[in-house]
Amino acid sequence: MTEVELVGNALCLDFANTVNARPVARRDWLAAPEGALTWARAVGLPVEDPAGLAEALPGMREMREAVFRVFDALAEGARAPRADLDSVLAAHAEGVGRARLEADGELFRLRWESPRTVRVLLWEVAASAVELLTHGPLDRLGACPSCVWLFLDTSKNRRRRWCSMTTCGSRDKSRRYYATRSS
Ligand SMILES: [Zn+2]
Repeated sequence: MTEVELVGNALCLDFANTVNARPVARRDWLAAPEGALTWARAVGLPVEDPAGLAEALPGMREMREAVFRVFDALAEGARAPRADLDSVLAAHAEGVGRARLEADGELFRLRWESPRTVRVLLWEVAASAVELLTHGPLDRLGACPSCVWLFLDTSKNRRRRWCSMTTCGSRDKSRRYYATRSS
């Protein structure tokens, strides 16, 4: 199995990036329980209790598309769809209702009881989406022009264009290289 690539710089964006082509997925980490477990481990939020995971996958994919539509619209300077904002908020509200506030360094963060279930994983994603929406930096939001991945541009000069230089960036460079050579 290939490795999970994390280029989003935010959990909610990496969640949107669990599929790497739309509308027809070339690779989808949420297509089967194994992939979802692999992805959750890769982002440091392993599912410790996988009960109900297979049944939860369609809901996870719906949530992913809602998160994607919200941040893809914002990355393009468009309005985030109201229905998708409502879905994200509903998941967050459910999660907040089950969370505790725990000290995390000088601040606090939402924490859920272990073992982590797939529900908790979704609440973590929803919390990340609400955090990004309410605190930003939304002006750093980008969408790779080659694939459908979203990311926060944390580079100093704010010139990041690609999801990653090793995949889309280098593909584009070689495309341009060959285009120049053949012209
Ligand atoms: Zn890309």
